[in-house]
Order: sequence, then C-alpha cells, then structure tokens
Amino acid sequence: MLEQKRILDGSCVAQEIKNELSERVNLLLAKGVIPCLATILVGDDPASATYVRMKGNACNRLGIESRRISLDKDTTTEQLIHVIQQLNEDSGVHGILLQHPVPTQIDERAAFESISIDKDVDGVTTMGFAQNAFGLAAYPSCTPAAIIAILDYYQIPIEGKHAIVVGRSPILGKPVSLMLLNRNATVTICHSKTNNLDKIVGLGDIVVAAVGKPRFIQGDWIKEGAIVLDAGYNAGNMGDVYYEACLEKASAITPVPAGVGPVTIAMLLKHTVDSAERSHSFSHSVNLNEFNK
Ligand code: NAP
Repeated sequence: MLEQKRILDGSCVAQEIKNELSERVNLLLAKGVIPCLATILVGDDPASATYVRMKGNACNRLGIESRRISLDKDTTTEQLIHVIQQLNEDSGVHGILLQHPVPTQIDERAAFESISIDKDVDGVTTMGFAQNAFGLAAYPSCTPAAIIAILDYYQIPIEGKHAIVVGRSPILGKPVSLMLLNRNATVTICHSKTNNLDKIVGLGDIVVAAVGKPRFIQGDWIKEGAIVLDAGYNAGNMGDVYYEACLEKASAITPVPAGVGPVTIAMLLKHTVDSAERSHSFSHSVNLNEFNK
C-alpha cells in the first residue's frame, strides 16, 4: 500500500515557486529595482537567529536583497516600532518581517500592527488578516499560504472536503482555516480546549497540524485516506504529527523536514517580489487573491 501513498515533497513545490520567481526578479533587476526584504531579529534566541539567517540566505540566492536588522534583547516596544516605521518609509524596502517571538517586554501585537500593510509580507497585521479572510488584496501569512500551495501543486481538491485544523494561532491556525473556507472546504478548528480531539481529527479529509507539540497527532486518529499537512517544526526535526503512524493511514502527507517549511520560505520570497512589483507598478500580473480562487 505504501507505494500508493504520496509524500508531499515541499522541496519540489518550493523549487517550482523559486524558478518562477527567478525570472520575475531578473525582470525587476533589469529595470533597476532590487526587491528587498528587511528582517528584524530582537534578542539572541538561537532558533530565531537560524530562521532569520535561512530567510536571508534564501533571498540572496534569488537576487533579493536581504536587510538584516538585529536589535538588542532589551529593546523597548517604542524603539522597535521606530525601526519598523523607518522601514515603512524606506522605498527601497518591499517587505518587512519581524521574527516571532520577540522578548516579553515588547508588545508584539503593537509592533506587528506598526508594519505598513503594503509591506506586511507575512500577514501579521490585523488588516492583512482581515483582508485575507475577506479574500481581498493582502499577503497571507506565509505558512498558511504554503499549505494551500502544496495542496494546489499536488492538485488535491479542497472544495467540499472536511478540513480539520488543529491550532488557532493568528499566524497559522486561524488564517489557514479561513483560506480553506474560502476555497469551499468545510472547516473545523480545534484548540487546547477542544473535547474529543481524536474523534474530530478522525472526521477530516484534510488534517492540518499547527499545534507546536512534537508528534502530537496520532496515527489512529487519522481517517483512512486523509491528507495530512504538518506545519509543526519542533526540536530534533520533529513535526506536530506522528509521521510514521500517520503515514500508515494517510493517502498523502508532508514530511518534516522538507514539507511545509521550505514552501513557507518560498512564499516569503514570493510576497516580497509581489510587493516590489506592486510598488513599482509593474505589469506582471500579481493576483493577490490566488489563494482564494
Ligand atoms: P502557537 O501560537 O503556540 O499555537 C498553538 C495552537 O495549538 C494554539 O491554538 C493552541 O490552542 C493549540 N494547542 C495547543 N495544545 C493543544 C492541544 N493539546 N490540543 C489541541 N490544540 C492545542 O503555535 P504556532 O505559532 O501556530 O505554531 C504551531 C506549529 O507550527 C509549531 O510547531 C511551530 O514551530 C510551527 N510553525 C512552523 C512554521 C513553518 O514555517 N513550517 C511557521 C510557523 C510555525 P489554544 O489557542 O487553545 O492555546
């Protein structure tokens, strides 16, 4: 039976996105526009530093400028917002990414909200979230966008399917639920207070794991033939899904690593290039509603 199962290889999806982006970046460069992503890292959390470095390296490989801003762990909310406002006003910057989480003394929500909607390439502002929920122009959060992109790449139907999303965070569980809803799935959102989680997950044609707990989703929860997307990334290269056990039941599943992660980074690059094109009114068709088609 194993040979009938599909491993949803995020590296292939990411590569296809980057191939397409490479042409668009070259067009921008030929017109004198260098797409630029500014990443802000506050403090010295090693995992966050690694994520920021990975994003910066991915930019550089594609010819996108990566402007890395590292701020002291004692930075105040006001200081951080001041830096973000400077980036908002800088016409050479097309995307702003504030690496989450920030140190506890910072009001993260206030900092996110200070990012200009035009440069909110990770869909962290409430305006970006709302516009995305309404299917209007905004950049969705990158991980939800990656999940939809994987389903589309593998031509997995969404319409009419029962999607179970485990997790309701503002950057992942909630936006991916709304994006699935906008694509005509019937969506159930689960969280830490959900009763009978195993039974509910067992109803899912599509299961999205966004819990932040290693190997949390068990194989015997999964309906035979379900599609399993594991957004989790925990220490030791572990997802939020018990991969080997869920593989037995699922018809298709994302691995960790090389599942949702690389596509998330590709989406960040894509949104930055989209933003660079928009800010210079280039004619390349930027369909901001493509996730809601
Ligand atoms: P988060 O903000 O901690 O949210 C976790 C969610 O899981 C919450 O909604 C929480 O419910 C729910 N939850 C916790 N325990 C649960 C339980 N026992 N039963 C059911 N639901 C439970 O995490 P996040 O930022 O969304 O991230 C989720 C995962 O995705 C993490 O593994 C993270 O590393 C990963 N991630 C990956 C990428 C990527 O690029 N691949 C990007 C971002 C995040 P409550 O709301 O009730 O607390």
